[in-house]
Amino acid sequence: MSKSNHLADRIQQLQPSAIRELLKHSKMPGIISLAGGIPSAELFDKEGLATATQRVVEESFGDAFQYGLTEGNVELRQQLVGLCQARGITTSADRLLITSGSQQALDLLIRSLANPGDVFVVERPTYLATLQILSLTEATVKSVGSDADGMKVDELEALLNTTRIKAVYIVPTFGNPSGTTLSAERREKLVKLAIKHDFVIIEDDPYGAISFTEERQKTLFQTAAALGDHHSVVYTSTFSKILAPGLRVGWIILPEWMQQKVAIVKQATDLHANSFTQSLVSAYLTMDRLEPQIALIREAYKQKCQALSRFLKEELDDHITFNQPQGGMFLWAQFRYDFDTTQWLKSTLEKGVVYVPGEFFFSDCADKKTLRFSYATATEDQLYEAVKRLKSAL
Ligand code: PMP
Repeated sequence: MSKSNHLADRIQQLQPSAIRELLKHSKMPGIISLAGGIPSAELFDKEGLATATQRVVEESFGDAFQYGLTEGNVELRQQLVGLCQARGITTSADRLLITSGSQQALDLLIRSLANPGDVFVVERPTYLATLQILSLTEATVKSVGSDADGMKVDELEALLNTTRIKAVYIVPTFGNPSGTTLSAERREKLVKLAIKHDFVIIEDDPYGAISFTEERQKTLFQTAAALGDHHSVVYTSTFSKILAPGLRVGWIILPEWMQQKVAIVKQATDLHANSFTQSLVSAYLTMDRLEPQIALIREAYKQKCQALSRFLKEELDDHITFNQPQGGMFLWAQFRYDFDTTQWLKSTLEKGVVYVPGEFFFSDCADKKTLRFSYATATEDQLYEAVKRLKSAL
């Protein structure tokens, strides 16, 4: 007899990630996938990573294959202080915790903060896997709408009139799935609300470096620091989108009040992040190849994004509208009329193309007309073919 009723209640209720399920389809022969947020492997710096690997084996063998500190590799944390400074963030190595990608950072942060019934606010739409983490806690999730300027902070302010909020989770720059960036004005207002109403902002920034223009928004972390606040914003980022996701190296900048406890949660979870890949990233960073690598990625994704936008305008303008992304990996689109993009996926799969239906990115009030395209993995020819297939599936 099955013992599945022995699974904890909150685990029994868990649903598989829609994207992970879709990725199974995207591996089928002939399918063009615009689904996963998967960096283009052709852009990985094979030569640089190979050299760094060799160096690690020859020069840091002991450290790379040994247990390490929970907080992470000392050298890497020092290098990250410099990398963060280049992003306008002033911090020190003792505030940094190296994680197994930002995904683990989000898990550690949310688990460290959430009491049963605590209210966590997310954008509508938001990053699916954060909803998954929240579903593993007994926190209450509330959502706030967003538009071309990111989260509608006025809506959050109205919610604060009636609701005590523990934390706001936000991808303020080139968001996943929306592709949008929170305006400077809203950034300042959000941080001021966090100070006034004493909530925490979890700033998830995997895509900020992948800008298609020279324009840069201040991070929320930096915005808070400029206002003299060093307690409200927790910043996380990752090497997944700028170097390689298989390394599983990300980091958190923790405010002093979280530093020790979050490290203990990390210790209980996996002792520390992968020693070998931390050493590898550290060796890579000494080679001065990261900036040119990021420049390459920015240019390649910009071209692909422009190509996909052009094809969608040429072929599907009567049906679909979208915001033009200024960076990142995603183009968020919506049908101009009532439409169910989850249903439609069956037809597009038959024609050989997958995307992610928008409804999975909503914690509530799902908009079924929406869908997310990733332009990062496919070639321009494939993007064109994908759009033609989408048209034929209508
Ligand atoms: N946050 C966002 C918004 C993401 O899109 C992703 C990856 N898709 C992550 C966090 C996790 O990235 P990783 O764990 O690879 O660093």
